[in-house]
Amino acid sequence: DKTLHIVGGGMAGSEAAWQAAHMGVDVILHEMRPKVETFAHQTGNFAEMVCSNSFRSDDDEQNAVGLLHWEMRRADGLIMSSADQNRLPAGGALAVDRDAFAQYVTEKLRALPNIRVEYGEVGTLPSDGHWIFATGPLTSPALGDAIARETGTDRLAFFDAIAPIVYADSIDMDVVWAQSRYDKGDTVEEQKAYLNCPMTKDQYEAFIDALLAADKTEFHDGETATYFDGCLPIEVMAERGRETLRFGPMKPVGLTNAHKPDDKPYAVVQLRRDNALGTLYNIVGFQTKMKYGAQAQVFKMIPGLENASFARLGGIHRNTFMNSPTLLDCQMRLKSRPNLRFAGQVTGVEGYVESAAMGLLAGRLAAAEILGQSLPDVPQDTAMGALIHHITGGADAKTFQPMNVNFGLFRPVDGLKGGRRGRKDRYKAYTDRAKDAWATWLEHFA
Ligand code: FAD
Repeated sequence: DKTLHIVGGGMAGSEAAWQAAHMGVDVILHEMRPKVETFAHQTGNFAEMVCSNSFRSDDDEQNAVGLLHWEMRRADGLIMSSADQNRLPAGGALAVDRDAFAQYVTEKLRALPNIRVEYGEVGTLPSDGHWIFATGPLTSPALGDAIARETGTDRLAFFDAIAPIVYADSIDMDVVWAQSRYDKGDTVEEQKAYLNCPMTKDQYEAFIDALLAADKTEFHDGETATYFDGCLPIEVMAERGRETLRFGPMKPVGLTNAHKPDDKPYAVVQLRRDNALGTLYNIVGFQTKMKYGAQAQVFKMIPGLENASFARLGGIHRNTFMNSPTLLDCQMRLKSRPNLRFAGQVTGVEGYVESAAMGLLAGRLAAAEILGQSLPDVPQDTAMGALIHHITGGADAKTFQPMNVNFGLFRPVDGLKGGRRGRKDRYKAYTDRAKDAWATWLEHFA
């Protein structure tokens, strides 16, 4: 059977259906809403935006998410054409009228003769046929259980607990030093996988005050399950006692300040390498519900991070996602059941745009497979390629958490200045290189 089944008509599933149908493949799109609801969706429309109405920056020369917009437009993406049609004035950001946006996507998909929509929940993983699962952060419980049974319960998470991620080149290495606690690790590289930010007693006390005072976001109804066990937000730890963090993620033991060996820090904030390229570091144990603006202010109080740029800020949300680096191949097929692809937020990307982008790739890759067309790998130097590469191999499987697209995921361009000053030229070079590579890859579909 050459039909492509797509489960979930959200950002990823809608885009996947559009792309595959345009390549001439028959699609059945399975969507559980409005029969079965989630706590966040309000309508039965496809591609409903559950929270903000923004697709973030539209700058395709200096911003990685803007580059992803460009790549999707270039591939005739439905999500981008609807966003462009329903755009609202919002400065450099791409904001849309959410109802008109979802209505447009729904009508366009319904109008294609080779897409059939079936309303109802899919609760199992079929053993034959071609399938894309794009069921998102609020994947229904029955399907979540089926995925966990297939992949192992420790490989499917129901909450993300995201610690902020910092660009390596924005960390002040005159203050910070590389060392793992008790010099653990077999190789020098492992022993240097951590960076340490030392704090004096005064700095620690001021930091705790700022944490306690910062604005926090609330959970949505239905969102607070039993996540609190393993990953308390740092501000909640601080509320439990002013010393709790100093005996938890900020403990100063097993470390010697390489810049001042005789100074014993009162507390230490550790950063851990977050990707194979070494361009990103996460702040260990710093998952948080602080609002984004507050996070940037509070984290810049950490010595060595005064000028930090954040690839992403922290958060804790209801979010079903799989450990893609161990479970998916480079085409987003489940290694144990290659007739099943996954796409969107359930694969560990984060955000409307990233989810739609992975849907676009999954739709095209699945359709090419059904049609017997062979394709070269998605080029790693595109925004699409940087993301798919990260989730299917580049990220550390042990600490895998959902990821936004950002330039830290891109391979360096040779011969360009590093650091803050070189940033503008570097980003332009990344986006130029990406556009060429993406245009070349798309030629294979002509
Ligand atoms: P979705 O868009 O959620 O689509 C998944 C679809 O699958 C849904 O239509 C669902 O009904 C359907 N489905 C689920 N299970 C089944 C099943 N078993 N059978 C059939 N259908 C099924 N991202 C942002 O960029 N900005 C934000 O402001 C933002 N706010 C968010 C707020 C909340 C509360 C949540 C939960 C997420 C938020 N996100 C936000 C993330 C956002 O959900 C994703 O970025 C994006 O919608 C994910 O796209 P997706 O296609 O993977 O999943």
